[in-house]
Amino acid sequence: MFAKVLVANRGEIALRVIRACRELGVASVAVYSEADARAPHVREADEAVLLGPAPSSESYLRGDAIIAAAKRVGAEAVHPGYGFLSEREWFARAVRDAGLVFVGPPAEAIAAMGSKTAARELAIAAGTPVVPGTTTALRDAAEAEDVAERFGYPVLLKAAAGGGGKGMRVVHRREDLAPALASAQREARNAFGDDAVYVEKYIVGPRHVEIQVLGDHHGTMLHLGERECSVQRRHQKMIEEAPSVAVSPELRARMGAAAVAAARAAGYTNAGTCEFLLDSDGAFYFLEMNTRIQVEHPVTELVTGIDLVQWQLRIAAGERLPFAQETITPRGWAIECRITSEDPANGFLPSTGQVQYLHVPAGPGVRWDGGIETGSEITLHYDPMLAKLIAWAPDRAQAIARMHRALLELTIEGVDTSRDFHLRVMEDSEFRDGAIEIQWLERRLADLTAAPPPPDGVLRAAIAAVLLAERERKTRRVTPRSDAHAGAASEVATPWLQVARREGLR
Ligand code: ADP
Repeated sequence: MFAKVLVANRGEIALRVIRACRELGVASVAVYSEADARAPHVREADEAVLLGPAPSSESYLRGDAIIAAAKRVGAEAVHPGYGFLSEREWFARAVRDAGLVFVGPPAEAIAAMGSKTAARELAIAAGTPVVPGTTTALRDAAEAEDVAERFGYPVLLKAAAGGGGKGMRVVHRREDLAPALASAQREARNAFGDDAVYVEKYIVGPRHVEIQVLGDHHGTMLHLGERECSVQRRHQKMIEEAPSVAVSPELRARMGAAAVAAARAAGYTNAGTCEFLLDSDGAFYFLEMNTRIQVEHPVTELVTGIDLVQWQLRIAAGERLPFAQETITPRGWAIECRITSEDPANGFLPSTGQVQYLHVPAGPGVRWDGGIETGSEITLHYDPMLAKLIAWAPDRAQAIARMHRALLELTIEGVDTSRDFHLRVMEDSEFRDGAIEIQWLERRLADLTAAPPPPDGVLRAAIAAVLLAERERKTRRVTPRSDAHAGAASEVATPWLQVARREGLR
């Protein structure tokens, strides 16, 4: 095992890697921007190196500075986390060229899966089904129209270099195709510096089901089952779970084999994820491969008992995977809610400010992977995901109940968060029935983000009574009433009665 690893990330995933290092007896080195000088990941690491000013382009994306820091402190490996430099082929290569180990797949595998069009070609060659569409970038709108006629509308324009739902446009009619192509190309150029856009058939009503794979340097490639990530807004995941209500052991084995075949075809090692769309009759289509640890990895860890981040480090250090595929089966159910600094009641507008108070849920089956604490400043420089709340229980209904309970315990003061939205989802009967697909949330967004219903009358009366009693105690003006007024006065003065009347309970 390595003696020292540099963690090239921030927030919850940096802490996650630092924790894995500590459990393995590996010293960790954090990197940070000026804005993160007091961040938890900086404090928890054994050492920390300042990279530069707050903007990512001057700090967390400075591959050269990160590699120089790793050399200077004597780290042997670099863990990139997710986002930032994690899927940049040049970074993986530069780390290797500097004589360090990149904790992830080889640069060549990142390149092979880095473009969605190249990944589609590779999957087709490996016999993995893909969504009908092109495997090369569109030349112009005329070509897009020809292809769309062939597959039928609706179609989906996608940036070949895409990620995070950027550069994607659903097109329902021919006349909308040319303007949608131009805007997808513009967005792709701005986001990825590459305006290649291709077209896929837009599949209506599928689930997003992805397969976690893990491969070592000794020829073993395993899959760790599926995660269902259908609860999405604007093609971005909000809630993930493992396993999926839609996946039988037989389907799991088939999807797992398809993922392993695609990963092998790319010369893949370390942890990765093959994303699929699964339609209602059990047909599945490869979308892309994410060549890094994913945000939602904890749900797989909780149902398989396999520590993915530790295994990333062990594999990178040359260890063999000791598991047999048949022994990896999901046990119980895990759900993850992404806690973001966004206001669901206000179109998920990003919210900034200082976390004035944080109370983290605990108790049986609850895991908090967070990057914030009381006093943390939430800025627009970085991703709005503050933390992940994960719950495990023996079955899905109990996992939902446990998540609901944990969300009720969670208190974050100072910034708006997605907490109340998640509470509404956990209370929703369609979600509880598992009747979800990738367009489900968009359809239900209005009722799931409406202001939360006020607590029922009795609860309100109790709250009002406590508040009033507290005020009375503070002002110490509790004067005994004469018997003559007792009846009328108590009717007026008793807070229980006041609120009860307003609530129509009396
Ligand atoms: P990104 O890399 O930007 O996240 P993906 O290819 O992973 O893009 O797709 C993101 C999401 O968009 C998927 O999870 C799914 O919900 C939706 N999506 C992608 N391709 C299709 C398709 N062909 N039909 C319908 N929905 C799709």
